[in-house]
Amino acid sequence: MRKYVIMGVQGSGKGTQSVMLAHDLDLVHISVGDIFRWHVKSHTKLGAQVRRLVAAGELVGDDLVEDVVRDRLQLHDWNYGFIIDGFPRNRRQAEFFLESYDIDGVIHLDLPDEEVRRRVLARRLCSRCGMDYNLIAHRPETEGRCDVCGGDLVTRQDDTPDALARRLRDYHNKIDPVVELFRRKEYVMTIDARADKTTVQQTIRTRFNLPPYTPSHMDPVELPG
Ligand code: AMP
Repeated sequence: MRKYVIMGVQGSGKGTQSVMLAHDLDLVHISVGDIFRWHVKSHTKLGAQVRRLVAAGELVGDDLVEDVVRDRLQLHDWNYGFIIDGFPRNRRQAEFFLESYDIDGVIHLDLPDEEVRRRVLARRLCSRCGMDYNLIAHRPETEGRCDVCGGDLVTRQDDTPDALARRLRDYHNKIDPVVELFRRKEYVMTIDARADKTTVQQTIRTRFNLPPYTPSHMDPVELPG
């Protein structure tokens, strides 16, 4: 059984690295952001409660997040373990998590703010089908047009330089104490996330003594976050 937490600023590749790690190690990838997005898209009661916050990239209240994480982990579908992405995001969530679950390690993807700006401000979204693009890592074939449905590509509402600067400030204020808390328990491996996705994945595996990564056709394109 392997239980990991993956942390990193927006654009650091958390989603991509989690999927690559989960795939051949049979870990369940639990993305708290994906769970919220599913609720918003499916118009559930929870979706209505979090819709505005998720759209603005602001944090959902701790009680709600902790309920979602508890319910998700209570499914116990993670026979070989899990990798949880996007949680904990602040000190209180970290304390809740440490009281309730044992973990084997924390993967801390480290990306300088300058590189975050470059990556995040290059993100585009299809206004019709919602497909994600990135003008650095995943360019559309025709500029400004979705490869899948031909819709117009737009910038996400919350991907402006001002909004990003605010989110980065907020991220550091909240996450740095979490990293410190986990570091005291000697769980944390800080990984340089500037390299390409395969190199980052290999580094994670070497640092955690995991079997080497073998690329497969299942590999994701670069995901946001
Ligand atoms: P992510 O995909 O991880 O960036 O998450 C998308 C959105 O879901 C965030 O901007 C928050 O609104 C919400 N969210 C995800 N994880 C958490 C968390 N641990 N605490 C509070 N809000 C969260």
